[in-house]
Amino acid sequence: MDKQRLNQIIEEKKDVFINVSDKIWEYAETRFVEVKSSELLCEILESEGFSIEKNIADIDTAFVASFGSGNPVVAILGEYDALSGMSQKPGIAEKVALSEGASGHGCGHNLLGAGSLAAAVAVKKFMEENKILGTIRYYGCPGEEGGSGKTFMARAGAFNDVDIALTWHPLTHNKVMSMNTLANYQIYYRFYGRSAHAAAVPHLGRSALDAVELMNVGVNYLREHIIQEARVHYAVTNTGGSSPNVVQAEAEVLYLIRAPKVNQVQEIYERVCNIAKGAALMTDTRCEIVFDKACSDIILNNTLEKLLYKNFIEVGVPQLDESEMQFAKTMRNTLAASDISSDLRTTSEYMGGEGQEIVEKLKEKVVSDIILLYSYSAMKLPISTDVGDVSWIVPTAQLGVACNVFGTPGHSWQTVAQGKTSFAHKGMLVAGKVLARTAVDALIRPEVVAEAKEELKRTLAGAKYVSPIPAGVKPSFIK
Ligand SMILES: [Zn+2]
Repeated sequence: MDKQRLNQIIEEKKDVFINVSDKIWEYAETRFVEVKSSELLCEILESEGFSIEKNIADIDTAFVASFGSGNPVVAILGEYDALSGMSQKPGIAEKVALSEGASGHGCGHNLLGAGSLAAAVAVKKFMEENKILGTIRYYGCPGEEGGSGKTFMARAGAFNDVDIALTWHPLTHNKVMSMNTLANYQIYYRFYGRSAHAAAVPHLGRSALDAVELMNVGVNYLREHIIQEARVHYAVTNTGGSSPNVVQAEAEVLYLIRAPKVNQVQEIYERVCNIAKGAALMTDTRCEIVFDKACSDIILNNTLEKLLYKNFIEVGVPQLDESEMQFAKTMRNTLAASDISSDLRTTSEYMGGEGQEIVEKLKEKVVSDIILLYSYSAMKLPISTDVGDVSWIVPTAQLGVACNVFGTPGHSWQTVAQGKTSFAHKGMLVAGKVLARTAVDALIRPEVVAEAKEELKRTLAGAKYVSPIPAGVKPSFIK
């Protein structure tokens, strides 16, 4: 079997994948309202001969596209949600909103969704041409950003019959993403008081905004007394109005609590809830606690990661032409020195302090053309992903491909601006090729699947997956 054929299939259909990526970039739909984006992906997958199951886990924009039958079942995960308030004109090295206040693809999930699509389509065609048995699936996973779409899908059992799951993320590096991430909970704290004329009868008012402020002060004192690795962030999502002469009757704050393990998040969550109750007591208001979403830490799989690495080396990194390089240089000029040094530090941590010469080389690079030497469980990242929940159920591995200029911060206008460029497209196609090869390896080599599963079992050492999202909690929309 000539796996070069997978590259060929992707190259032949590359205009379709690029078009899908660009369209999703333009739709820029945020968590759980990715209607047009998911429809477009379903349309292409259907026309390519996949059968589609929609409305997974009761989420309108979650779907599974399948081809083939029986085991192994190989899942390729795709995302397509944007971030609110990140609108930016494409292909320019200047911060200019396309539409003021609108959303934008600040995390490159347009590329993520389309790159995974390329992989699934190529694997399906390759299976037909080579009469390979088994099932290839594309998982349409909405609401990764602040929504934990995959966690809801996992809770509904969507991954239970899967043997292997693969995904990728556009980055500024080329590497297998063997990195530990944090579990998290996201919770709304809503306070209800009593409005009153703030000057005439302030003694009759009970301020919900005071409660929010006191709660935040309390949590800021808590920080010193929780584990170092934890992260606690908040956003005031309802200030209770803009009139200072009205005592605010309602106010709301959204908390995001992260820690390495779910039980550690749970412990901090309980303490944050107590602080909220304390704030309500202090202000004579009522507090309502609304659990929004959660995700688990990631369980890495060395067996699959080694395979991804081997295939990445075989496919090679994206090759940029002169004009792409020129634009990349202009974009690089918009980055702060601290952006570059932060990316260099990430490289150094990933290489475990070994790759000083690579760090030196990368200092001069506008776009990384180096595949970082794979090292298992290389580092701990203080971020979270809902891929974590999938990884507890099925052996999972993630690839990272440079689609952005080295140093580009995540969730930045620069990421949005680069999301439609031809060099981002090249990175996306490389990701599709590497994922396709790895999926084919899993389909034709049952020993790889068995080894990956055995490894997952060993790593979990008897621990069972329990959804961090309580029963009855449904996905919410951005308000
Ligand atoms: Zn992302």
